[in-house]
This record gives sequence, C-alpha cells and structure tokens, in this order.
Amino acid sequence: MRNIVMLGVQGSGKGTQAEMLAEKFSVSTVSTGRLFRSRIEEGTELGREIAPYVERGDLVPKDIVCRVVADWMDAPSARKGFILDGFPRNVAQAEALTEMLAENGRTLSDVVYIRLSDEEAMRRLSGRRVCANRDCETKFHVDLHPSKRDPNRCDRCGSELVHRSDDRSEAISRRLAIYGSETKPLVEYYRERGLLREVDGEQSIAEVFKSIMEKFRE
Ligand code: AMP
Repeated sequence: MRNIVMLGVQGSGKGTQAEMLAEKFSVSTVSTGRLFRSRIEEGTELGREIAPYVERGDLVPKDIVCRVVADWMDAPSARKGFILDGFPRNVAQAEALTEMLAENGRTLSDVVYIRLSDEEAMRRLSGRRVCANRDCETKFHVDLHPSKRDPNRCDRCGSELVHRSDDRSEAISRRLAIYGSETKPLVEYYRERGLLREVDGEQSIAEVFKSIMEKFRE
C-alpha cells in the first residue's frame, strides 16, 4: 500500500505532484494548508483558532494539526493509501505521524522530496496566484506560468485567481525561515530511515513527475 509523505519547500510543486501521484496510485491526498484555509473561510471554531497562525505564516500548534490529520486518516477513503502534503512539518509531527499510523497497524511507504533552492522558492512564491476555489486551488505564476485564457481566472475551473495573504514578502520570508529550521531536518530524518525518494524540482511539472515515477521504479 502507498502511504506517502511529500516533502519540499513552499513553491517546490509538491501540491501539484501530490495530486498527480494520487491519481496515478488511486489514493486520496490532503493538503493541511488547504484544509486550514477552508476552515478559516467557513468561520468554524477551529478556523478562528488557527487564523492568526496561518496569516503570519507560523506553524499551527501540533495538537490541533495532529487532531485534524488523524480525523482525515481515519476516513475510509484514506485507508486504501494516502498522500500527505504539508504534514509533517517538523520532527515532533513526524513522530506523531508514526504513532498515529502504528495504532492502526500502518506504516509510511515513501517520502518524496522535491529539492528547490531558496532563491527559486522566493521567486515562485512572490509571483504565485492561486485559484480561490478550495476544491481546485490550481497554482499559476504571473510570469512563469500565467493563466492562459484570462490572467485573473483559473484555466481549470474559471474561478477567480487570488494572491494568498501569506504569499506576500513578509510572510514568505517567515515561512521559508521556518521551513529551513523546522521542516528541512526531515530530509535527513527520512533519509536515515531509508524512505527518501529525492528529485530535482527545477524542471517542468511533467519532468518532475517523470523523475518521481523513475524513483518509484528503482
Ligand atoms: P501551506 O499551504 O502548506 O503553505 O500551509 C499554509 C499554512 O498552514 C502554513 O503557513 C501554516 O500556518 C499552516 N500549516 C499547514 N500545515 C501545517 C502543519 N503540518 N503544521 C503546522 N502548521 C501548518
């Protein structure tokens, strides 16, 4: 069974690749960031609690994140295999994930790491535009990958494109700093455990996907 974690800096394309892999392996995928943005928009109690963290680009407290992920993984759809995008984000969350899985006799099968330099991540995030439809959230870039039919509308579903508040320079710097100090150590953590499948993120979407599939065949 494929139980996969996607790892990579913001802007590395891991969300896009997670969706492509989910289709390929017929498993479900979740982005914790997207899930949190939905809760914030819906104005739920959880949404109100996490909004200040997400707005600043800070990590949401571990207990909240783990509760949300555990609920998602308990659903029948995730029991046939899953792809996590945006979780775990530090060693404490990685250990919580291992425990969560062990409780149900499950383990992680692979960790896909999409490598990208900080400079390229900054360039990609600062021009990023995201489809406002939470079921879509397709990502565009004003210069590198603009929407073709209308620069302000999503090519896939026609919804409005927005500049995420945490894709503005202050929050981007904060998110990249947190990635460097908290999340990047997970690369070595999972390499040591023999789970890492590393690919170069500075290629086209199709090439990155091809590289990932090659790693799965190795
Ligand atoms: P993302 O869409 O992955 O960039 O996530 C957007 C924001 O959601 C992050 O900047 C955090 O505030 C929050 N978030 C998403 N996933 C996690 C996580 N695993 N742990 C803590 N906070 C998270």
